[in-house]
Amino acid sequence: MALIHCPECGKEVSNQAAACIHCGYPLSKAQEERFALVLLSRDSDYVSTILTVQERLQIDDYTQAKNLVDHLPALLRRDLSYDAAVELASSFRPNVKLVRDRGETDEALLTAPDIPLPDSQEKKAQAGLGFGGTVAAVIVGIFAAVLLLSIL
Ligand SMILES: [Zn+2]
Repeated sequence: MALIHCPECGKEVSNQAAACIHCGYPLSKAQEERFALVLLSRDSDYVSTILTVQERLQIDDYTQAKNLVDHLPALLRRDLSYDAAVELASSFRPNVKLVRDRGETDEALLTAPDIPLPDSQEKKAQAGLGFGGTVAAVIVGIFAAVLLLSIL
């Protein structure tokens, strides 16, 4: 057991406690795992990669975004929740890796082992099939109705 400082009131509490004994701040939340994203390579379209970086990282200066893309691997963003990291990664796939951010230096994060990203593409394909299937069923239904009417 170790003592940590409560991020809310600053008093010492056990790192095993679910909430701060002084102010009730939920500590499990504060200790939630953090993630970082590293851009490994760029798209075949160099300019579009820069523009995506600029847009997603909200960098005002084009040159600054270009500089980042010119020096790969580059740390895109750190200290993200898992969901935020996966969401941001979706704009850069497959040129990006997700790593755990345990407060290492930026340089250490660049070479940190990557965590596999959830396969969102597969999910999208399944959703597409579901939609296509529904459309096909409707078309077949209309055809059957027209056929029936023409017979009658
Ligand atoms: Zn506290």
